[in-house]
Amino acid sequence: MIISEWLKHARDRLTQTNCPDPDIDARWIAEDALGMTRQALVFEGDRAISRHQLYRLEAMLDRRAAGEPVQYILGSADFMGLRFRVDGAVLIPRQDTETLVEAALIELRQRPGSPALLDLCAGSGCVGLSLASLAPHARITLADISPEALEVAHANQKDLGVKAELRQGDLFNAVGRERFDIIASNPPYIPTGALSGLQREVRFEPRIALDGGPDGLDFYRRIAEGAADHLNPGGAIFLEVGIHEARPVLDLVKAHLPCAEAGTVRDLNGIERVVFGKMK
Ligand code: GLN
Repeated sequence: MIISEWLKHARDRLTQTNCPDPDIDARWIAEDALGMTRQALVFEGDRAISRHQLYRLEAMLDRRAAGEPVQYILGSADFMGLRFRVDGAVLIPRQDTETLVEAALIELRQRPGSPALLDLCAGSGCVGLSLASLAPHARITLADISPEALEVAHANQKDLGVKAELRQGDLFNAVGRERFDIIASNPPYIPTGALSGLQREVRFEPRIALDGGPDGLDFYRRIAEGAADHLNPGGAIFLEVGIHEARPVLDLVKAHLPCAEAGTVRDLNGIERVVFGKMK
């Protein structure tokens, strides 16, 4: 079989198994399994595939056809122009979350010296480690309850060669009485009852990273309650939120923090994706 034939066969199989992006996923798999660039796949499309390569390609295709996200199959995902390792212990970084990173980055850059930022529910580390890479003047701490997730974050920290402290614990328990200038978090925020209706791919992701309790707001309540005790004077908080959650989360932030300014930031789809509060 030649490369172009395999790509067609993979596209057809992924289309039949209801994968949302058959063409893109077939190419991702081929690039990885054959060690070729996307351009090379096109220009060398009539090159023969070895038996060994075909075995690898088909094993990856089987996993994708069964619904597993392509990022878990490849073991990596791109976020903020950086490559992060991912496995089933962590949520796959979403483009939506770049809105959170950008908002926190603007805030970090306005602060002189060496501002301290805490990334709560860090998962793969995509938020905190992107910030560590983009704002090297900042002191970044990542916290997560899951030791398995922290292992992934630690591997990503080493790959990216950035400075960051990693802590294990349930929300603020991970950092004792320490205070920060900025808190950024993408906590679990899907209402429990909505989990079973999610796309097949999302069901491969850790439930602990998605389940936000009966109304999806459990973690925002706990974060808003604890924030005042973990922010320095003039501190700020940035929270990613799910659909229809911006208003209630904004109310929670305002109720628990004496904000000089509070509001929301929209993502590229125009959805209110980040809630922020900045203290006096
Ligand atoms: N954005 C993710 C999704 O819609 C959820 C992430 C989260 O719960 N923090 O699948």
